[in-house]
Amino acid sequence: MTNALMQPIQDSINKVCKQGLLPEGQSLEDLEAKDDLELVDDYPHFDKPIDKLSENPSVMALIHMILQKAIYASASEVLIEPVGGDLRLRMRVDGLLKQMDRMSAGLHFPLLANFKAISGMDEKEQNLSQEGRFRIVTKDNQERDFYVHLLPSAQGENIFLRALHKTPDLLDLDKLGIETSLVKELKELSLKPQGLMLVSGPCDSGKTTTLYALLKNFDSNKQSIMTVEDPVEFSIPGFNQVDIKSKPGLSYPKALDSILHQDPDVVLVGDIRDSETLALSVKAAVTGRKVLASLQAPTAAGAIVRMIHMGLEPFLVTSALSVVVCQRLARRLCEYCRLPYTVSEDLLDTFGLKKLLPFHDGQFYKSCGCERCLKTGYQGRVGIFEILVLTKEMKDLFSKNESQIQGLAKTFGMKTMREDAILKAAAGLTSLEEVLRLTTADS
Ligand SMILES: [Zn+2]
Repeated sequence: MTNALMQPIQDSINKVCKQGLLPEGQSLEDLEAKDDLELVDDYPHFDKPIDKLSENPSVMALIHMILQKAIYASASEVLIEPVGGDLRLRMRVDGLLKQMDRMSAGLHFPLLANFKAISGMDEKEQNLSQEGRFRIVTKDNQERDFYVHLLPSAQGENIFLRALHKTPDLLDLDKLGIETSLVKELKELSLKPQGLMLVSGPCDSGKTTTLYALLKNFDSNKQSIMTVEDPVEFSIPGFNQVDIKSKPGLSYPKALDSILHQDPDVVLVGDIRDSETLALSVKAAVTGRKVLASLQAPTAAGAIVRMIHMGLEPFLVTSALSVVVCQRLARRLCEYCRLPYTVSEDLLDTFGLKKLLPFHDGQFYKSCGCERCLKTGYQGRVGIFEILVLTKEMKDLFSKNESQIQGLAKTFGMKTMREDAILKAAAGLTSLEEVLRLTTADS
């Protein structure tokens, strides 16, 4: 790189530091001195030493800084895009995109060149989209893999990074934020040899985590456990996992039909999207198999109605289905900066808190924002749930109408998603704003 280009780049990097990419008081030199990220060179495309990958150590330092920030913020995605003469840096944190900085457009080309080099892409290609990967090790010896995608746009190539999780900790059911009595009930339902356990909610609502937490109750040494997923997000030893993405022409119904020939005890269906998959899942659940599946639906009662709309006879719903876990992920208030305040009696009434928690003093917390939560006021997420258990009594009174199913479930003690969210807000885990953003009023 020529010296004429170097100075504006250095200036831009300094500007970035001043604008808050680094914690206050730290400079780029501190960052280099700390050297707490290390690029790993066991990826096949590293046919040259890492120190030769970049002509410009300052740009590598900027990449380190961006990655450090992403890891520190637990960002799932990093987007670097040329916009309006600047280079915009955004990160997706807890499901929401946040603008982190605007950098000088002069950094675009050097950043592209370095990302291409470290993730094994063709450095000269500018007109086609490209993908690659790289791995870094943090100072506490954790390996982090990143998927990189470059997309040529009218303004130049957009840089997209996604943090990949290699070995997730499979969570226990009791760590998800589900009420203790319901966790016990879910575990008991898992032990029954057959039946369909459904997890519903929109995209990015934590359905896969819940499905795997349910799967953890089974013993892969004593039972045959098979999954059909698109794609397989986490590979788990002991499970037979079929990845629909991996084979052209493979679909949920085809994969499900063929694994049922191998007589599994437990089947996980990643997503029921069509009538055929639903029919096969239900057939498996009424013929001696345990089926865990996800279905997109906004409420637990809505999931039942959706199955009927997808062509399933109501008698098959009641004979196959044992429970619907409907869920969302609310942003968790940052415990370092959340602020307590007291909610008026009127508002408590509106939220029905008096009925849920008669002795609550009306203290809630609101988001504020500090360095630790990147000034968002939130850090991490907490699940909110609506869990409809189809008891025998409920099945006898079954209806095809969503509000009637909801009403019936409530008389049998179901807490609605809004009620569960309000209880979590009353416990200081999330804010009333999140409750309103994610749930609708109970009818
Ligand atoms: Zn904070």
